[in-house]
Amino acid sequence: MTDRERARMLDEADPLADYPARFEPAPGVVAYFDGNSLGRPVAGLAEELVRFVRHDWGTRLIRSWDEQWMGWPEETGDLVAAAALGAAPGQTVVADSTTVLLYKLLRGMVAAQQQEDPARVELVLDTDNFPTDRDVAEGVAAERGLRLRWIEADPAAGVTLDQVRAVVGERTAVVLLSHVAYRSGWLADGPGVTAAAHEAGAMVLWDLCHSAGSVPLALDEWGADAAVGCTYKYLNGGPGAPAFGYLARRHQDRVRQPVQGWMGRRDPFTMGPGHEPAAGIRALLSGTPPVVGMVPVRAGVRMLAQAGIGAVRAKSLALTDLARAVVAGWPEEWGVQVASPAEPARRGGHVTLTHPSFADLTAELWRRGVVPDFRAPDGMRIGPAPLSTTFTELYDGLMVLHDLLAERDGARR
Ligand SMILES: *Cc1c(COP(=O)(O)O)cnc(C)c1O
Repeated sequence: MTDRERARMLDEADPLADYPARFEPAPGVVAYFDGNSLGRPVAGLAEELVRFVRHDWGTRLIRSWDEQWMGWPEETGDLVAAAALGAAPGQTVVADSTTVLLYKLLRGMVAAQQQEDPARVELVLDTDNFPTDRDVAEGVAAERGLRLRWIEADPAAGVTLDQVRAVVGERTAVVLLSHVAYRSGWLADGPGVTAAAHEAGAMVLWDLCHSAGSVPLALDEWGADAAVGCTYKYLNGGPGAPAFGYLARRHQDRVRQPVQGWMGRRDPFTMGPGHEPAAGIRALLSGTPPVVGMVPVRAGVRMLAQAGIGAVRAKSLALTDLARAVVAGWPEEWGVQVASPAEPARRGGHVTLTHPSFADLTAELWRRGVVPDFRAPDGMRIGPAPLSTTFTELYDGLMVLHDLLAERDGARR
């Protein structure tokens, strides 16, 4: 059996086989490999947006705030929590961007920790986290006079439990880590890291950007403290869609976020003096929520809830298995390396390949309708979103890459 036949059989047996057709068609695209960076729009979203403009906004006008929008940050947060986070209602909001929510939570968590124990002056993070996470941590550290404790992460793997155990202690205020590493796709040990940090009296802030909608999460079961993530990757919320923030119920009175604003007040419409935060997770809000941006998020999350994260994860592993198997069959002298974990238990939703020519080849792939992304210095991420990608699409896209590498190798000889 050829690899393409194998891909066809996988499609035939796929319990999620009817999902790819439930996205907007993308004419000219042979294979989309960037579902881990920008998910595709679900079919019917255009009509939903038109209805939103004509009816909810255009006709109901300001009445829609009372009728529905005021509650959307928490309501949409609960949808995300149920479909993707393994979290009970009342602990998640949709608002701001990941970067802003990271800041608000991290700063609030550090303050809460230091109020109880001023000796907690360290923030633990890793060298390979996404730039915005490092930037926010550096900013909070400068603001609060904290020391950054850097874990040196293997760029082809990620932060291990042993590495976390070795740095957390009585000086640690907060540990900030990505659950799935944006570069390698390494899946960190969520419950293990959480428990190790808690033993040391530290809190953990998880970045779930590459996890939500891709790997099952059980934040409540882990005893997680707080988390953030974007909705425009595997949750199909669209470019610049608002992020989600989770703060465990037990911390909601204790952690006060620093960007206090009227939408996070106890009663926004009395317009009185003095900020008294709203009860519960609503206090994480600052100003007017990004309502328009939540329309696609709600559509994407509804689809995920229907498919079920367990089925999504099973297909995701089968997709990345196929990608690994196809690339393993390429001539060794081409020098294409897989810079992602082989072990399924440590593998997120994408596979990263490395090759010195990838910076040039990515542009040619885009011209040929194959759309991965390039991450300097030499990484190409293959991120096949399980709901919108077929096995044959994955195979065909990889074959276009194969042919480009073969042409290049032929030209060199
Ligand atoms: C995509 C991503 C972000 C993006 O943050 P924005 O505020 O939405 O730009 C942050 N962290 C990680 C790990 C990401 O993968």
